[in-house]
Amino acid sequence: MLRLLFLSTPVGALGTGQGGGVELTVQNVAQELQQRGNRIEVVAPVGSKLQGISVTEIPGNLQVAVQTQSRDVPIILPDNSVLANIWGYARQVQSNYDLIVNFAFDWLPFYLTPWFDCPIAHFISMGSLTDALDRIMAQIAQQYPGTIGVYTKSQANTFSFADQCEILGSGIDLSLYQFCPQPENSLVWLGRIAPEKALEDAVAAAKITGIPLKIFGKIQDQDYWNRICQDFQDAPIEYGGFLSTQHLQQAMSKSRALLMTPRWVEAFGNVAIEALACGVPVIAYARGGPTEIIQDGMTGFLVEPDSVSGLVKAINSLAQINRFNCRQQAESEYSLTALGDRFRHWFTKILKS
Ligand code: UDP
Repeated sequence: MLRLLFLSTPVGALGTGQGGGVELTVQNVAQELQQRGNRIEVVAPVGSKLQGISVTEIPGNLQVAVQTQSRDVPIILPDNSVLANIWGYARQVQSNYDLIVNFAFDWLPFYLTPWFDCPIAHFISMGSLTDALDRIMAQIAQQYPGTIGVYTKSQANTFSFADQCEILGSGIDLSLYQFCPQPENSLVWLGRIAPEKALEDAVAAAKITGIPLKIFGKIQDQDYWNRICQDFQDAPIEYGGFLSTQHLQQAMSKSRALLMTPRWVEAFGNVAIEALACGVPVIAYARGGPTEIIQDGMTGFLVEPDSVSGLVKAINSLAQINRFNCRQQAESEYSLTALGDRFRHWFTKILKS
């Protein structure tokens, strides 16, 4: 039995979508390890909600998401920073825990690591974005070998310390996702609506093919979304809001395919495995995490990055995909059991060293 203190992302409350895929990862890792008899406390911004896990809510002002900043941005903390408050709380309770697990992609947790008595594992959820963060992560990777975990090899490769990263992948509670054998004639796009996700390319593909595109997710950049609506007034798109997992899987499972159009090196793409679990093939730019998930021609298609015509060609080839293979891949590679085993193994290695 391990006593684990999970420190969540400081960019938003859990359950709001502001934190992106790491919100689901915190839920799933906590749920699986708690179910195995470990003691878990999750510490997160006020308003956070998890299913079946106790959350200690911490007040304070949210961090600005790193991906909206330039590479040379200085380290920024707002007044009454929720990130600083979370770590202040962790310092007080650290003696009750075997391991602290950091889920924030931010400078402060790495800087504070040497000042803690309790060992710290850092799960980083994005690829390289700023120089200051890269530098401090590289220092900690060297000083505390094996303590940095990532989703994928492609994500690790954006850092100078790639070889020292533990590759953990992702996983989901498959029982929450229903397999749908017969799709209707629609496509789906899921995720934070923000420039690094290049939703406009999926909308352009929907316009060319004439197949309706359903869009679900948190609008993180309102101006960006308004521009898309302005530029594609005649495209067959429909925005359905930000949905809970239960409603999301219902809404997307009838789609012919999920379109993933990342402009950045996507660290993983939790939406890919959620789609596969419903039997929905994934058409993605061959960049970052999706290249390690999708079996090209079998559970979806990998398309030349930034090529809308590539998306269209893949959409026109969907008939060759057997949706059952998609569900099967999710079951064999992305179950909660597989996820829990990988995290448990990583934690045990850290505590042994
Ligand atoms: N998501 C959701 N409701 C929606 C649309 C998306 O809960 O209506 C979640 C989805 O389950 C996934 C996350 O948003 O966990 C997006 O994460 P992903 O890893 O794909 O990308 P990130 O935002 O981390 O870059």
